[in-house]
Amino acid sequence: MTLFSCGNCRKPLTGDLKEARPSRNTDQRSRHRIAPPRMVQGAYAISQDASLFILHPDDVPGTAPHPDHERRNGCCGLDGQDGPNLVCAACGADVATKQSDCWTQNLVALTAAAVVSGAESPA
Ligand SMILES: [Zn+2]
Ligand SMILES: [Zn+2]
Repeated sequence: MTLFSCGNCRKPLTGDLKEARPSRNTDQRSRHRIAPPRMVQGAYAISQDASLFILHPDDVPGTAPHPDHERRNGCCGLDGQDGPNLVCAACGADVATKQSDCWTQNLVALTAAAVVSGAESPA
């Protein structure tokens, strides 16, 4: 199992996760409907260029919404197009981008450079 922590303050951002493949991209026939999550809960995937860890939107309990509302644009949710929109709840560092809008995917992408992964939970 893997747990991701803030690269700045080392507080955990996620629970224990196992690596998995993302579900297939869902079609976009209906508008203004938020897509099903790309990942199942408890799993993560590494992006093709290894710059992101893709998670279920509910698997980041150690994060908080970005205080800058300019980062939190979206019409039905968050579009994630303006830079990281989730911060570490403990220290406020930018750590992840959530997409949950009607025209985006529904996922959280941890910025690999901003987090550290560990095989065990801290005691
Ligand atoms: Zn932190
Ligand atoms: Zn919408």
